[in-house]
Amino acid sequence: MTQNTINIELSIIIPVFNEQEALNICYLELKKVFYHLENRIEFIFIDDGSKDKTSEIMKEISYHDMSVKCIFLSRNFGKESAMSAGLDFANGYFVAQIDVDLQDPPELIPKMIEVLKQTQSDVVYGVRSEREGESSIKKLSSYLFYKIIDKMTHIDIPRNTGDFRVMTREVILALRSLNETQRFMKGLFAWVGFKQIAFPYKRKARIAGKTKFNYIKLWNFALEGITSFTNMPLKTATYFGFCISTVSFLLSLFYISKYFFYGEKIQGFLTLIVAILFMGGIQLMFLGILGEYLGRTYIESKRRPVYLIRKKLNLD
Ligand code: UDP
Ligand code: MG
Repeated sequence: MTQNTINIELSIIIPVFNEQEALNICYLELKKVFYHLENRIEFIFIDDGSKDKTSEIMKEISYHDMSVKCIFLSRNFGKESAMSAGLDFANGYFVAQIDVDLQDPPELIPKMIEVLKQTQSDVVYGVRSEREGESSIKKLSSYLFYKIIDKMTHIDIPRNTGDFRVMTREVILALRSLNETQRFMKGLFAWVGFKQIAFPYKRKARIAGKTKFNYIKLWNFALEGITSFTNMPLKTATYFGFCISTVSFLLSLFYISKYFFYGEKIQGFLTLIVAILFMGGIQLMFLGILGEYLGRTYIESKRRPVYLIRKKLNLD
């Protein structure tokens, strides 16, 4: 049996991956904040292929509470895909996204909805004015990433945003219409446009458990962000090649004229080696960039689904 999906005012999407320590605390906190919405709210927990007790806890909760809907993905597809799954099943007029570790305070969601209504906007996204419990390397790398992506793309991806936002149904429908397999959600949210308002808040430390993102994951995430929104690195190759050929052409003119006018012999074994190695390095680097795009085109061309569902609970 499922809830009547027509009257749902708010859907809350929560991706979960190996979060047995945080899950119950998160659920209880959400229930506390939204008790007044009674059955006009749904909580969509997406189990992103957890290996610990997460799925048992989810089953247990959804068994007692019909407003808790569960989607179990067939394996770990990554947070971006898990969020997409949640968005695909959300029925509410407003949809909110939040992490299970409660780094983003759920009690702010009603305030964000208030802002959304007052400003008649479509998206209200949280911007971290402060971040607790995150290393300075993480903060620095995230700063650099946004700086680079800002310079390279035409879309404006807001700085210091996480996946804490509230949006209207129209935005969800727009997002569902995008069918790329590889999803860089922050970019997609910016890409769809609509009227978006920033909501500054203080991001707290995790309530329990550890972060699920290591530096390799973050690096791949950054690559995904750049390659799915701009061809700039590819263009750089062209411009770079053009500059280097111009310089080497002028240089050859210089040496040839020296030979003709002053009779100087052309020499410089070391220069030659350095130049060859330099060019070799540059070529390999751009070949790598090319490969990065080609690989993505290849994966995209297979048209595989963004996620696969093993099981659903309390959902049609
Ligand atoms: N998460 C997920 N799949 C993953 C990694 C993370 O669904 O492969 C979820 C995780 O359970 C949490 C949210 O994404 O609800 C944010 O993860 P985390 O707190 O580890 O990221 P951080 O806040 O450190 O950036
Ligand atoms: Mg977190």
